[in-house]
Amino acid sequence: MAECIFCKIAEGRVESQTVYEDEQVKAFYDLNPQAPVHVLIIPKEHLTNALELTAERTALAGHLVVVASRLAQQLGIAESGFRLVLNCNEHGGQAVDHLHFHLLGGRQMNWPPG
Ligand code: AMP
Ligand code: ZN
Repeated sequence: MAECIFCKIAEGRVESQTVYEDEQVKAFYDLNPQAPVHVLIIPKEHLTNALELTAERTALAGHLVVVASRLAQQLGIAESGFRLVLNCNEHGGQAVDHLHFHLLGGRQMNWPPG
C-alpha cells in the first residue's frame, strides 16, 4: 500500500535500522523502544493485522515467529527471556495497520500487560 509506513520500510523507501531481511519478512528496531531490545518483525506483503493470517498464510505466520525466535537468540535475550507481542485493532492497541510482531526483551516484563 502506497501510504503505509511499514510498506515503505519493507520497500526501503523509508529508512529503518534493519536487523534481518529475506524475501518475505523484514525486522528492524522500533523508533520508540519500550525495552532495551525492541524489534518489529513484519511481512513485506501488506497485511493489516492478525485477522489476515488466514489458513493459506500459515507458512508466513510460522516464518514470522521463527524469525522472532532466532533474533531473540542473536540479540542475547533468549536465556533471560523475552515477549513476542501482536497487537490487533483498537482494544489491542494497534497503531500501525500493517501486521507486525514486537520482540521485547532486556528487562523484566509485567503481567497482566497494561
Ligand atoms: P502498534 O501499537 O502495535 O501498532 O505498534 C506500532 C509500533 O511501530 C510502535 O511501537 C512505534 O514506535 C513503531 N513505529 C512507528 N513508526 C515507526 C518507524 N518509522 N520505524 C520504526 N518503528 C516505528
Ligand atoms: Zn503496509
